[in-house]
Amino acid sequence: MSAIYLDNQATTPLAPEVFDAMVPWLRDKFGNPHSAHVPGRQAAAAVEAAREQVAALLPSGGRVIFTGSATEAINLALGAVRNLVGQGREQIAVLDTEHAAVRDTALWYGSQGFETRLLPVHSDGLADLEELEACLGQNTALVGAMLVNNEIGVIQPVERIAEMVHRAGALMLCDAVQGFGRIDMPEQADLIALSGHKIYGPKGIGALWVRNGIDMPPLIHGGGQEQGLRSGTLSPALCAGLGTAAKICAERRDTDMAHITALAEKAHDLLGDWTVNGARDQRYPGNLNIRRDGLDVGRLMSDVREVAFSAGSACASGSGRPSHVLAALGLSSAQIKSSIRLGFGRYNSMEEVEQAAHLINQAAEKQ
Ligand code: PLP
Repeated sequence: MSAIYLDNQATTPLAPEVFDAMVPWLRDKFGNPHSAHVPGRQAAAAVEAAREQVAALLPSGGRVIFTGSATEAINLALGAVRNLVGQGREQIAVLDTEHAAVRDTALWYGSQGFETRLLPVHSDGLADLEELEACLGQNTALVGAMLVNNEIGVIQPVERIAEMVHRAGALMLCDAVQGFGRIDMPEQADLIALSGHKIYGPKGIGALWVRNGIDMPPLIHGGGQEQGLRSGTLSPALCAGLGTAAKICAERRDTDMAHITALAEKAHDLLGDWTVNGARDQRYPGNLNIRRDGLDVGRLMSDVREVAFSAGSACASGSGRPSHVLAALGLSSAQIKSSIRLGFGRYNSMEEVEQAAHLINQAAEKQ
C-alpha cells in the first residue's frame, strides 16, 4: 500500500500536464538551446516560452534567470551583496525563521567579513518590524524575508518589509518558494526565488527573478548563459516543465486554494486536541504545523507509516537538527519535539485527509 502523502512542503508530485510537456524534450528533441542551428533554435524557443510562463506570475520590470534549484537562485541573489561592499554596505539581515538556503548562506557571508544579523519574529512567527527598523542602517546591503514559511506556513508582510528596506537604500530578497503559484508575489521585492518541485513541477530547476538595474556577480562562470550570471547548458525539458507547472498553477489558483483550504479545515476539525504553531490567520492553509504536549513524535511517525508527514522538530533535510523556526517562536524543546507538519496539496483527497487524521489521532491517543 502506498502512503497517504501529506508532505507537500517538502516536495509535490509531478502534474501529469507537466510530464507531458517535458517528454518531447527528453525523447525526441535534443538540440542544445545555445546552438545556432534549427534544432538549437527550437530548443531555445522552448526555453524562452517557459521563461515567459514563469515571468507571467512575477512582477513586471525584471528578468527570470533559470537555476538548478531555489537554493542556487538564493545563492545567486545573495551574491549581490558583493557588489555593494564598495558603498560601505556590509550588513545582511535575514529573518531567523528563513529556510537554510537563505539563513545558512547569510551566515556564511558573516564568516567572510560581512555582518550578518538574524532578525527575531514574534511568537506567532511573524517578523518583528520594530526590531527590523532598529537594525536597518546605511550599512545594510540586503534583507531577506520569505513569503510563506516552509515549516509553519505563516505569510510574512513582505511588502511592508520591502518598503522599510528600500527607505534604508538596501535590497530586498524574498524566498517565495512556498508561495509561488499560490498567492500574489511581492511587487516591491528586488529578488525573488522559486523552485520547480514545490509547484508540481520537476526537481532540478529553480529560478531567480531580478529587478531590472540590479547588478550582481555571476554564480557560475563559463559560457555566459543566463545573461552571464549562471553558465551551463540549460535543460529544455526542465525549463518546459517549470513553465508548464507555473501556467497550471495560475490557471488553477482559485480551485487549488479552495480545495486545499477545505482539506486543511477538515484536518483541523479532526485534530481538535492539537495546538497550531504560528499565526492562525496570516497563513497559507496548505501547511498545518501542530503540537500535542507530551507526544513522542518519533514514536508517532513509526506507528503511522501509512501517512507520509513530517516531524515539526526536524529540518527538511532530515538531519534531526531541532527546528530553528519553532525555537524562534519561543517553543520549548519538549514542545518542538511534540510537533508535526501536515502539508496538503492539489492531489490529496478528502478521504485521505480523514483517514490520515484518524490514524494520527489513534496513535497519539495510544501514547
Ligand atoms: N526555500 C524554501 C522556503 C523551501 O521550502 C525550500 C525547499 O525546501 C527551498 C528554499 C530550497 O528549494 P530547492 O529544493 O529548490 O533548493
